[in-house]
This record gives sequence, C-alpha cells and structure tokens, in this order.
Amino acid sequence: MLKIANGTLVLPTGRRRADLYIQDGRVAAIGGDHPVEETLDASGCLVFPGLIDAHTHLEMDTGATWTADGYASGTLAALCGGTTTVLDFATQDRGGTLAAALEAWGGRAAGKCCCDYGFHMAVTSWNEATRRELADMVRRGVTSFKAYMAYDNLRLGDADLEALLAATRKLGYVGVHCELGDKVDENVRALLAAGRTGVENHPLSRPNAVEGDAVKRYLELCDRAGAPAWVVHLSTREGLEHIRAARKRGQKVLVETCPQYLTLTEEVYRLPDFGGAAYTCSPPIRSQADQDALWQALEQGEIDILSTDQCSFTLEQKRLGLHDFSKIPNGLPGIEYRFALAWSAGRLSPERLARTMAETPARAFGLWPRKGSLLPGSDGDVLVWDPNWRGKLSGKTQHSACGYTPWEGFSVTGRPRAVYLRGRLCVENGEPVMAGDRPLALGLGRYCPRNCVPLGMAH
Ligand SMILES: [Zn+2]
Repeated sequence: MLKIANGTLVLPTGRRRADLYIQDGRVAAIGGDHPVEETLDASGCLVFPGLIDAHTHLEMDTGATWTADGYASGTLAALCGGTTTVLDFATQDRGGTLAAALEAWGGRAAGKCCCDYGFHMAVTSWNEATRRELADMVRRGVTSFKAYMAYDNLRLGDADLEALLAATRKLGYVGVHCELGDKVDENVRALLAAGRTGVENHPLSRPNAVEGDAVKRYLELCDRAGAPAWVVHLSTREGLEHIRAARKRGQKVLVETCPQYLTLTEEVYRLPDFGGAAYTCSPPIRSQADQDALWQALEQGEIDILSTDQCSFTLEQKRLGLHDFSKIPNGLPGIEYRFALAWSAGRLSPERLARTMAETPARAFGLWPRKGSLLPGSDGDVLVWDPNWRGKLSGKTQHSACGYTPWEGFSVTGRPRAVYLRGRLCVENGEPVMAGDRPLALGLGRYCPRNCVPLGMAH
C-alpha cells in the first residue's frame, strides 16, 4: 500500500485535507489509517486526479512530414506535466477503413507509451462501409469520432458530416475542427497571388469569421441530426456566441479550448526572421479580446475541457513554409505545460482545473470513473502538485522532442512534485524517474478502451 500523506485532495465535492491510499494500481481509500509500505509526504501540495489530455496528435504523418513527437517522447512530456492519459486521433485514410486506421495507430503506439492512451477516430470518407464499421469501433473501445471542415485531404462535406452525426448520435461525440475550408483556400490563394507569402499572413487567411461561421454551421448540422456537439479548440468570441445561442435553444454542446488561445496573442506572427512560424497552428492564435472571452467562459463553466491539440514540429520542419506560409506544418507542443500554464494564470480554482482537465474529459469520453477521479476503485493516477515552486518554462528543459516551446521564458508557479501512473511513481519534481538510462515509464502506458456516452448526457 502507498500512502500520499498530508496533501489536499481535489475532489468533485471540493478540497479535502486527507491521506490517499493506493494499492494494486488503484485508489484504495481516502483517509483512515491503513498499513503502508511506502509514503510520499505531500505537505503543502494539492493532490489532483491524473490529468487527461483529450486532444493530441502524436506520431502523425501530415503528408509532408511527421510530427516531431512520437508516442514515446510525446507521452513522456505529457507525464512530466501531470497528464496520465492522452486521447489521440487515429485518422482514416481517404478511401481506407476505420479498422486499418486503428490498426496503424494502435501499432505505432503499442509498447512505447509512458502514459495510458486511447483513440478518437477521425472519419475522412463517409459511405456505407464506414457506417457499418462504427459498431466495430465501439466494440474496440473507440467511442468518439472526429471530422474536419477544413484541410482538403481530411474534410467532410456538410451532407456527409450530418450523416456521420446522425449515425453516431447514440455512440459518442464527433469533435469537429470548425473552419470553413473553402473560405481558407480562397484567402490563401488571394494572399499568395498578391505575393504575400510570409508567416504574418497565416492568421489573415483564417480570420475569426472562418471559425465563427463554421461553428454556426456545425451546430446547425448537429441540431438537424439530433446529435450532441463537441467543438474542438475554440479560439474566437464569434464561435463562443454561436455556442451560447445553441445552448439557449437547448442543444448539448461540449466545448474545448487550448492553452495557446489563453496565453498568447496574434502579435507572435509578426516576430522577425520567420519567428512567427513557431506559433503557426490552426485555428491561429487570436487577439487579447478573444483570449479574455475564453478565460471568462472557462471561469463561468461555458468551456468544458482544456486540452492541448498537441501537434509538434521542430523549427527546422516549420521551414517547409519559409517561402509559402500555407506550407508551414500546423501545430504546437503544449502537452507538457498545459497544467503549469493554466495553474499559473491564477484564474481557475483547483476544482475547475480538475474538472476541465480530468473529470469532464473522463465523463464525456467514457473513461469515468476509472480515470479522472480520486475515488476508491479508480486507477491510481495521481498528480501531486507543488504550488510553491517557481521557475521558467524552457524548450531546453522540456521533454518533448520538438526542441522549442512557444512559452519560452514564461514564469510559472508550481510543478509536479510527483506523478503516479496506476500507483507507480513515474515523475518526481517534474523529471522522469529513471530505470537505468531510460525513463521507468517507457512502455508502461496501456491502451484504454472506452464506454459509450450517448447524447451528451455526460456534462
Ligand atoms: Zn487537433
């Protein structure tokens, strides 16, 4: 038996000073007096359920290059930041099957992960064969899906998206990347034709309305299909207004945002010497007014989930778009610093942090109460957070393989004092526990099959 002593537990019902006991990989008890073999003194620390990152892209081929982080480095970075489960996106090849995609992604992840993992399935070809595969996906524990409204090699048309929503409404959420692809393509063509090839044009090709109008259309399709909505990586006030209106009409909408939209502003795209490329992601980083609106929505519980959209590329890889901004690989490495950034902003209570980064993703994606919970019977995934540590974030000390961080030099308060994966101590003071010359956690991560959570009743 392991005892995490003298800490303050962050539970759904509030904070509680109590000891936490873990045995055989699971939470055994809260409080009381039990015989123990091992004790961690968590005095002065907050004890959170291990975090879930419900939106990651690891070991992904964009067609032009692979993400800098594969499953090993990406999940090690996750774990060092307090995340004990990631939900990654497997993606159907155009014209291929969902089963082949799950096989390919599952094969790449197997045996390499440092934290537990599951898959959402991105659907890129909608037809009868794909429809027939949905039940099989659910049997294999894939109970959430994804569709894109942008990116020519990924996107579904409106009719196909509506049909997918109708077919999955009793199985689980379809997260949608809300940007109007035609509008983006048109803007990119016009900018390039005018000789505007620099990275500063990236946000101009995807202005707020491109997301806002897409959110509006997606919500209309969900309404027609009678399906719950899951808006991924929300970045704009416009999108938020459409979500508010839909909820007023009685629609179920699950909303996610990411740290880059809460901590950075669009000025980053005007950095000299191609510096903005370090921040290219889609949707792009927005204005201070958007950032303020997102924070307020998080504080008020209108945004349900804080994930990362982790999708890392080295600065060298970003140079693929040196002469054409539309060719810069899109995505940022946020997987390690999500909690530190959210905590250090000082705007969300510990309970809200636990809800948006552990409880709600667990409930929404069929992992509750095995994950995202400190209650007896749950997996012994624990983040012991030392709120008194002070330091700076740096690409040199992070564990991602991408070589830089968008938050270089950011001052933060707090870091993981300890991270446990199913009762195993894997991270101490933000650094991996080593077994010889390799992280102890390497290969410890297991695939998490998930339950169905129909019709958005989870939140
Ligand atoms: Zn994504």
